[in-house]
Amino acid sequence: MLSVEEAQGRILDLFHPLEPERKSLLEALGQVLAEEVISSLDIPPLSNAAMDGYAVQHRSIAGAAPHASRALRVIGQVAAGQLPQQEVTPGTAVRIMTGAPVPQGADTVVPFEDTDEFQGKSTGKGPLDRGEIRVMRGLSQGSNIRPAGQDIGRGQVALKRGAVLRPSELGVLASLGRDTVEVVRRPVVAIIATGDELLEPGEPPSAGKIYNSNGYSIAASVLRYGGIPRLLGIARDNPESLSAKLEEGLTADMLLTSAGVSTGDYDIVKELLARRGEVAFWSVRMKPAKPLAFGVFLGPGGKRVPHIGLPGNPVSTLVAFEEMVRPAILRMLGRTDMEKPTVLAVLEDDIANNDGRRVFARVVVTRREGRYYARLTGDQSSGILSSMALANGLAICPEDVSRIRAGEVAVVHMLDWPEGVF
Ligand code: AMP
Ligand code: MG
Repeated sequence: MLSVEEAQGRILDLFHPLEPERKSLLEALGQVLAEEVISSLDIPPLSNAAMDGYAVQHRSIAGAAPHASRALRVIGQVAAGQLPQQEVTPGTAVRIMTGAPVPQGADTVVPFEDTDEFQGKSTGKGPLDRGEIRVMRGLSQGSNIRPAGQDIGRGQVALKRGAVLRPSELGVLASLGRDTVEVVRRPVVAIIATGDELLEPGEPPSAGKIYNSNGYSIAASVLRYGGIPRLLGIARDNPESLSAKLEEGLTADMLLTSAGVSTGDYDIVKELLARRGEVAFWSVRMKPAKPLAFGVFLGPGGKRVPHIGLPGNPVSTLVAFEEMVRPAILRMLGRTDMEKPTVLAVLEDDIANNDGRRVFARVVVTRREGRYYARLTGDQSSGILSSMALANGLAICPEDVSRIRAGEVAVVHMLDWPEGVF
């Protein structure tokens, strides 16, 4: 039986970052940068005021204090988006707004708060009427001035290839004037549910049948981790039906099937896949999700389409997705940070391990007084999807540990980071 790491490693070996595509900024959210972004501009383009106030020469205000204010003649003003018309000379000041370019000659911006304008406002008698301002405090040279290129200099690498585009990275691109960006394209993932017992949601219930929940939980997981799901519906437990679906799936970047990989009489997925590609069937030393198929099919034009055959039990499908499929999707997306977000939590229930497999137990993680606690969400059999729906994490009992007791600490792979808990 393969270990979880061996299975993950052999799956990952088959996946590579996909080719780049050009996207408009907002559409690229969450994708990985496929180009090195070099700034063609200084940002900010000109040195500018960080506060509303007065642009002055530092030597005009040296030593200013409430009892020793310095009077300056106001010779003009400049707002953001304008260019200054006056040069600041000793003893003069230009009224300046945040973001406005600093006039020639000025090396310091005195905020309104440090002048008598501030006081004048509250008394209703403006010092501007006098054409004069009094500075009540000495500031160090360069105060409240943001130099040109302070954020990003022209010619500098603004964003590295491989960066994940979050709102801040998209903001950087926009600040460079860019409206499109080269990113690694998202993988298209074809999803086929197999089973004679399956009905599609929306169809009327029927005796002996169950609804295809795996198709939806798998497709939603694909979406959540950045892929583009293509739901191909249900293949019946016969080679013709599966064959037909398979053809549709071979244009995708990855093919996922659910069920038909255990040892039942109708597990034809195994047979057909073995005939149509290079397919390995594995038992992975994990619980749930022991049976797993993995291989490659030949698609149109000799394209090799990797396939992961997920187990049919609804929880097994999702756990196998989190541990085996998610890393593959992230690699195709160009991501290198593939570790699952993990916490160490004090268990509130025992987790038993009866047969030397790595157990992924459904838990809800809470935080109290700075510590994480993990409680089982209920029945842990692999068909109980409702206990997966209650969970925000998977607590791990290693293969060589027969039991972790309540009060001991376990590693938990987080499925969610609920607001307020973390
Ligand atoms: P199998 O691997 O085909 O033996 O399926 C294992 C279990 O998973 C059986 O109880 C199936 O009914 C169930 N199952 C298979 N496919 C799905 C599906 N798409 N949605 C929900 N349950 C499924
Ligand atoms: Mg079946």
